[in-house]
Amino acid sequence: MPMRKLVTPITLIGLAVSLLAPLANAAEVYSPAPEKINGVMNSAVPSDAIVLFDGSDLDAWQSADSQEGAAWTIEDGIVTVNNGTGSIKTRQSFADIQLHIEWSPTATIMGEGQSRGNSGIFLNSIFELQVLDSWENPTYVNGQAGSVYLQHAPLVNVSRPPGEWQSYDIIFKAPVYGAAGELESPAQVTVFHNGVLVLDNVEILGATYTEEPEYSTRCTPYGQTREQDCSGRMPLTLQDHGQVVSFRNIWLREL
Ligand code: MG
Repeated sequence: MPMRKLVTPITLIGLAVSLLAPLANAAEVYSPAPEKINGVMNSAVPSDAIVLFDGSDLDAWQSADSQEGAAWTIEDGIVTVNNGTGSIKTRQSFADIQLHIEWSPTATIMGEGQSRGNSGIFLNSIFELQVLDSWENPTYVNGQAGSVYLQHAPLVNVSRPPGEWQSYDIIFKAPVYGAAGELESPAQVTVFHNGVLVLDNVEILGATYTEEPEYSTRCTPYGQTREQDCSGRMPLTLQDHGQVVSFRNIWLREL
């Protein structure tokens, strides 16, 4: 005799929970998890580097959302996200760059997943290289430290425990546009996390702050709107994601 399917209070609760659960972003990828390995950080500054932060001031930076100066906190030679004051961007714009930046999520673990030590480095202001405390902190792999957000997971996980300093060495090639604003070649990025290759010349599919990455078909001189400036030169932005993350030793070389 076939079993009758019973609608119990438990199945009703389960149905309610599944209906109330937030919809997962289809772009989130959860496996395979990048292998966990150790890296080595090199903090030396080349002689021809443009130094964006040497521990003394944020003169090279301003608010990403206004004409005000950068309101993040400098103490003991490091700069820390001042939550709520917003992201900051360089006053200067850049196209192709080699960028070195050191970062450290707070030693005090607060939150989990995307809510633990989240910040980001927006190359060309619109392409996010994720900064996250990815030490024993599972999340979607294309959103962990060393990922191009929701596009490319890192090849390996070189994350250190929270509170320790980590580095990114980045080679970024800006997108190239034709005279009419048509995309001729997309942006590409290579990233070393604590000296270890995690992104090998990957193609960036478009702006990462939208769920559907795309290159704008409109060319707009860079302003407050984060439109694509078709000169390929845009500021570098550091993200205020509402968590405590510090930075130091930020320099780049124009390529
Ligand atoms: Mg982020």
